[in-house]
Amino acid sequence: MDESDLTCPACSSKDLERGTTEIEVPHFGSVVVYYLRCKSCGYRINDFGFQGNFPKEDKVEIKGKKDLEIKIVRGSGGTVIIPELGLELFPGPLAESFITNVEGLLNRFLQLMPLFEDKTKVDEIESRINEAIEGRLKFSISISDPSGVSHFVSD
Ligand SMILES: [Zn+2]
Repeated sequence: MDESDLTCPACSSKDLERGTTEIEVPHFGSVVVYYLRCKSCGYRINDFGFQGNFPKEDKVEIKGKKDLEIKIVRGSGGTVIIPELGLELFPGPLAESFITNVEGLLNRFLQLMPLFEDKTKVDEIESRINEAIEGRLKFSISISDPSGVSHFVSD
């Protein structure tokens, strides 16, 4: 990845610096996190930046409210797809690593909705996401990640 081409998603500054920090991650213990930080506005993008040994592809079926608790670890190289809702998250230079549960993932997608221009489509997708958050919709989530970092955690 050519860092000189990266711009801050918050303020479009090209003045980004790379650093590392250590954080405690549930199910992992201590993990070194690489991050990019914008010197202008302080915006920070985390990247778990390590090699995992999880299956490169995995899938879960969400059948009800209880399944919304399933946790998702998404490395920056992970693709997350919810076909029934038409939602896709692809890796990219500014793709962020995160750990959340299914409900949190759906909320993340909701936050991205204002970025789309087709307002009619957005309304439709938003109402389906809200149905999913309320556990009234059956759907599946698949992740694929060549680096073996992304995976599901269900207790
Ligand atoms: Zn910035």
